[in-house]
Amino acid sequence: MCSREGQTRPRKSLGQNWLTERHIIDEIVAAVSRFDSDAVLEIGPGTGALTEPLAELGKPLVCVEADEELAGRLADRYTGRPGVAIVTGDFLQWDMSALPGARTVCAGNLPYYITTPIIQKLIGARALLSGCVLMVQKEVADRLLAPPGTRECSSFSLYCRYYAAVSRVRNVSRGCFFPAPRVDSSVIELHFRSEPPVEAADETLLFRIIRAAYSKRRKTLLNNLANSELLWWSREKAARVLAESGIDGSRRGESLTLEEYALLCNTACETEGS
Ligand code: SAM
Repeated sequence: MCSREGQTRPRKSLGQNWLTERHIIDEIVAAVSRFDSDAVLEIGPGTGALTEPLAELGKPLVCVEADEELAGRLADRYTGRPGVAIVTGDFLQWDMSALPGARTVCAGNLPYYITTPIIQKLIGARALLSGCVLMVQKEVADRLLAPPGTRECSSFSLYCRYYAAVSRVRNVSRGCFFPAPRVDSSVIELHFRSEPPVEAADETLLFRIIRAAYSKRRKTLLNNLANSELLWWSREKAARVLAESGIDGSRRGESLTLEEYALLCNTACETEGS
C-alpha cells in the first residue's frame, strides 16, 4: 500500500503528486541504471522519493525543483554530500549546459502540466543526454507510442519518435501517488537516436509538413497542406508535391508514416531547388 507518512502538503498548481510505491521507484531507478551515462538529472525531485535511490547510483546527480521550500529542504538534506546538487528553479528556464556529465540520463516523475515543453527541451538537448526515464500521464504515453494511422498518433508522437526510440516501462495506477491524480500514468523511456530513422533534407520543413498535415484531422492531406500558415504552399504546389511523391492527397495526415513525410519533405526541397 502507499504510505502517506512524512509527506508535505502538495501544491496542485505545481503538479505535485508524490510517488509512494516503493517497487515503482525501484523500477524507475533500475531503468535509469541501464542507460550508458556518466551523470543523472532529476526533474522535479519534490520530497525526494526518487532522489536518494538515484544518488545511490553513485554518479553526479543534479536535481531541478521549482518549489523553493522543497528545494531548500532537499538542499539541506544533501549539504556536504559529494556529487549531489539541488537547483531551485523552473526546469524550462534551466541552462542544460550546467549538466554535470557529457552523457547524462534524465529521470523524473514529471509535473504533468508541462510534459510537452519538458520533452521538447530534453529533445533539444539530446546531444548531452543518453536518454530519459519519465513518468507521464498514461494517455500521453499511449499517444507517443501509437502507430501512424491510428487516432492516438499525433504530430508530437512523430516528432518524438524521429529523435528517440520510445518505449513503455510500465503502467502505474493513480493509487500509487499522494494525492491520487485523476489519471493513470506510465513510465516511459526515450533512447535518443544517433541517426534519425528517416532521411529528411530539411528537418524544420519536415516538422512543418507534419504539423500542417495533422492540423485539421477531418480534412484531407491536400486541404491541410494547401491551407497551412506553416507552409504557405499554393494548392497547385501542394498537389504537385503530393503527386511527385506518389502520395494520394485524399488521405488523412494521420495515416502517413514518417518515411512518407520524409518523402514529401525531400520532394518539396527538390521542387524548390529546380
Ligand atoms: N519526484 C517527486 C515524486 O516522484 O514524488 C515529485 C514529482 S511531482 C509529480 C512533480 C514535481 O515537479 C514537483 O515537486 C513540482 O514542484 C516540480 N515542478 C513543477 N514544475 C516544475 C518546473 N517548472 N521545474 C522544476 N520542477 C517543477
